[in-house]
Amino acid sequence: MPDTEFGTFFIPGPTEIRPEILGQLTRPVIPHRGKAFEAMFARIEAGLRDVLLTARPVYVGATSATGFMEMAIRNAPEGTILCLVNGAFSERFAVVAESCGRRVERVIVPWGAAFDLTVVEDALATRKFVAVTVAHCETSTGVLTDPRTIAELAHRYGALALVDSVSAAGGAELMVDAWALDFLLTGSQKALALPAGLAFAVAGPEYVERAKSVPHRGFYFDVLQYEKYAAKHQTPSTPATNLLYALEAQVGDIGREGIERRWERHAAMRDATVAWVDEVRERRNVDLSIVAPEGSRSPTVSVVRVPPGMSTTDLRQSIAQRGYTIGGGYGELAATTIRIGHMGDHSLEGLQRCLHACELSLAELAEKRRLVRV
Ligand SMILES: *Cc1c(COP(=O)(O)O)cnc(C)c1O
Repeated sequence: MPDTEFGTFFIPGPTEIRPEILGQLTRPVIPHRGKAFEAMFARIEAGLRDVLLTARPVYVGATSATGFMEMAIRNAPEGTILCLVNGAFSERFAVVAESCGRRVERVIVPWGAAFDLTVVEDALATRKFVAVTVAHCETSTGVLTDPRTIAELAHRYGALALVDSVSAAGGAELMVDAWALDFLLTGSQKALALPAGLAFAVAGPEYVERAKSVPHRGFYFDVLQYEKYAAKHQTPSTPATNLLYALEAQVGDIGREGIERRWERHAAMRDATVAWVDEVRERRNVDLSIVAPEGSRSPTVSVVRVPPGMSTTDLRQSIAQRGYTIGGGYGELAATTIRIGHMGDHSLEGLQRCLHACELSLAELAEKRRLVRV
């Protein structure tokens, strides 16, 4: 357990960073227009291509992931964008689009639900959209949406697929090229277990081609600039070089683990959390449930409904005293759920220890309520 006020992090971002990765930040600065930098950046790009399974350039931005959501929108062709909204982050994608002056239509499902694909297809078939936005993992609910299916549907109706994989990439199965995703974005502080401050994106060939005729792409997030500089193993403006040191080390470690094995480890952590929820009900008579429906549960974050009337604030405080920081509920689910972020470099054994601490706190709070009632 790290010796800090917050204990070990099991929140859905920022995630726990291994000390050897954090330690990279103190390496001496190098100039970013020079051979040493270009060699390092080329190694980073190769490592990221293996994480995202793409042969395209991977853009690396000094921004939080929301910046690259804006990139996805600003460089998209003119026309109406269909936003699939099933929680806070997919709604943010729609709001980003609107704030960039785009016309937006939403397919909305209740928080915690998965999309009905016939409804999505119906929207695409009846009106003309240039692009569809989707959150691979909706971090506010723990619902996973298969971006490959959404991309197939979008392409059938001539739209591009813009995918927010911020809390999925590096933990959930993802193949940017094989799934023909037109724009894929993610961030550093979620399943990649890096310090916050970097975003990554891949733009498909058609997206880049069509970006050329998009007026007012803006300057900082212009994909054509990113394309141009990627060809030189550079970034358009000053890179966050010290964060890149950590990134270089981390993509090396992810490569050694193997991306498929990393997906399997995350799936095992999801399965263990789902099983634990049932066990706690049996063992402790504490009524927990997973918000996401079976078959749509993210391998990176589980959103767990706590018994009615239990204070999630008290619960998280009690868990913190046992050495773990877990996530609070988000938005509509703030008062009724906790979020266990089992993503990044956590092991199944480490997660089991966290779940054990959660269980002790749940039992303690449930017992207190029973005593109060009688
Ligand atoms: C965390 C998150 C974001 C926002 O990322 P920032 O790095 O905070 O800008 C966007 N989408 C999803 C799905 C996320 O989980």
